[in-house]
Amino acid sequence: MLAEKGIHRVNPGETPDIVIVNTCSVTELADKKCRQTIRAFARKWSNAAIVVTGCYAQLKPQEVASLPGVEIVAGIDRKLKLAAYVDEWLASRTPMMEITPAKEIREFNPSCSRGDRTRWFLKVQDGCDYYCSYCTIPMARGRSRSASVHAVVDKARQAADSGAKEIVITGVNIGDFGKGSSENFFDLIKALEQVNGIERYRISSIEPNLLTDEIIEWVSKSRNFMPHFHIPLQCGDDEVLKLMRRHYDTTLFRHRVETINRLIPDAFIGVDLIVGARGETPERFESSREFVESLDISRLHVFPYSERPGTKALEITPVVENSVRHDRVKTMLAISDDKLSRFTSRFIGTVRPVLLEHSQKDGFMHGFTDNYIKVKVPAVPKLANRIVEVRLDSVDGEEVNATIIG
Ligand code: SF4
Repeated sequence: MLAEKGIHRVNPGETPDIVIVNTCSVTELADKKCRQTIRAFARKWSNAAIVVTGCYAQLKPQEVASLPGVEIVAGIDRKLKLAAYVDEWLASRTPMMEITPAKEIREFNPSCSRGDRTRWFLKVQDGCDYYCSYCTIPMARGRSRSASVHAVVDKARQAADSGAKEIVITGVNIGDFGKGSSENFFDLIKALEQVNGIERYRISSIEPNLLTDEIIEWVSKSRNFMPHFHIPLQCGDDEVLKLMRRHYDTTLFRHRVETINRLIPDAFIGVDLIVGARGETPERFESSREFVESLDISRLHVFPYSERPGTKALEITPVVENSVRHDRVKTMLAISDDKLSRFTSRFIGTVRPVLLEHSQKDGFMHGFTDNYIKVKVPAVPKLANRIVEVRLDSVDGEEVNATIIG
């Protein structure tokens, strides 16, 4: 849209007239990094107009507007209007603040973006109706909403026409796709599989109560949906899960993991965890650690609990000290390293399909196997964005050295 108005991306070393910052507000640290980034841009390009959008802009528009260099603050539902706002600002040079209160946001436009990556990201849903006690996302993103299956499939077709081979299905709570309509997430994935040209789909993070056995069974037979799942657990203790107001317990979570392992034994299963949440006593952390250790999963994504203003979690006691939160992160990360190395080692000596990425470094190219193992092969530039068979030779940290064999 910006390009249509004659605005182009600067090359390295050039000075921009406009800087667009897309912000996050998932933790206190995210807010801080956004402020630091905006200030750094204002120092570096003192004559540039800074445009800020995303969750931090939505939640704290006044705070953002007061930062140096900021001329336009646009809420999360206004991103697709940024080009028009920039036009308006160029004509008037007057600061603008365009925010819809999150509760009133109803509009959703699916989008498919490539950025500089080989993989494409298809956003099918936004917002969340769950209100987990620690989370500000519903306050920033508003109610759950999505496009029709037809509109999303159209986006996937356009991506395929532009050369996309792999699409990651994203959203805030994607399992909620279609809520309030006669369609659902299962209808969506069945329709996407029919799009010609897209050889791989990955389902990004999906709530365990919404990743039904029916979906897992269907993925196990699908040609194009990869054996790769990302499921947020957040804590492996039922008391803490209740305090977090999550929509499942550890029994259901274990059942999902066991179903995946039974039907798709080679699947990669990534699991999100928040440690040190309010109410996570040493005993409850220990029970969570034992639960996580007992799961047959591939990797953990571990985050220390972050206090967020306006959340229900602030009423919970006891509070876990910061230093303890960080010790718990280390404990869980050690478990994660162990699980990842066991998972990866299982596939050494086997042959798997890899989509090779465009970027090259030190004579090597990277890519992911169908079951999400990151591999490194000697670069063959003409094979970028192609799916090739590789033999997995040896583990090298978080990657695997591999040989192209077909
Ligand atoms: S499901 Fe819970 S953690 Fe996820 S976005 Fe919704 S409220 Fe936040």
